[in-house]
Amino acid sequence: MENQIPNPRTLQEAMIIYADPDVAFVKMIALRWPDGITCPRCGSKKNTFTKARRVWHCSDCKKQFSIKIGTVMEASPLGLDTWLCGLWLLINAKNGISSYEIHRALGITQKSAWFLLHRLRLVLKTRSFSKLTGEIEADETYIGGLEKNKHAYKRLNAGRGGIGKAIVMGILQRGGAVKANVISDTTKEILQGELKKNVAYGSDVFTDSHPSYVGLDEQYIHEAINHSFEYVRKNVTTNRIENFFSLLKRTLHGTYVAVEPVHLQRYLDEQVFRYNARKGNDADRFRLAVKGMEGRRVTYKQLIGHAK
Ligand SMILES: [Zn+2]
Repeated sequence: MENQIPNPRTLQEAMIIYADPDVAFVKMIALRWPDGITCPRCGSKKNTFTKARRVWHCSDCKKQFSIKIGTVMEASPLGLDTWLCGLWLLINAKNGISSYEIHRALGITQKSAWFLLHRLRLVLKTRSFSKLTGEIEADETYIGGLEKNKHAYKRLNAGRGGIGKAIVMGILQRGGAVKANVISDTTKEILQGELKKNVAYGSDVFTDSHPSYVGLDEQYIHEAINHSFEYVRKNVTTNRIENFFSLLKRTLHGTYVAVEPVHLQRYLDEQVFRYNARKGNDADRFRLAVKGMEGRRVTYKQLIGHAK
């Protein structure tokens, strides 16, 4: 059934295809359960469908389930069409998308759009725990320093460098994936800890000459480039991770004018998803993103940053 529904190539097509709740429903079934409709509670494939209410009744655990149960959409009053159009917009907007644009495009309030976007970013968070390997570039950068956040940050970071800014560490495998996380400081313990958590033992690691990277050669083939007098020495460069940071900053400053530090990690996850899915086409990216809806829940408190 799903194969008869074309994959959208433009925003306009996506809006036409997913705006039809029947089409969105059929599409979501195919994307969520490519091997057949499966009970999210017990994994059984035996069920009966009540068409009028769009629910399945599991023949094994005897409970009923909907297309939204067990996904990030559970408990959301927004329709499947809104979710799928929103997801399509987010992953295909090269420079990000604001809640205002979502509000205008989907006809929901800006507040609903804001919550939708944050839930969708959670969907994009990479769940793979496999370590990067091969040739690795690592670097850290400072983000933000917005006036409205400065007072709180000044109190938190009094006496330290980078006042009013959040620190992000990026680790990139050449020709492969990138990881980016908010870190608390740039001590040896933190920077090397991130590397050890994310990079396989024995890999080639390229960094700048930040003193916190000294000693990495115990676990890696480590080479540093000193940016005060050179940028590239043979293959020793951090150009790729620096490019990732430039793109991230352009997105944050252009689209997300006022990123609260507490939400920064979700914006990082969004940009990481875009980078890591760069080789696929729109349909591949969409399939991958929909997969991320499964098993993800977020509460209001988590969204506004009052709980982890
Ligand atoms: Zn069941």
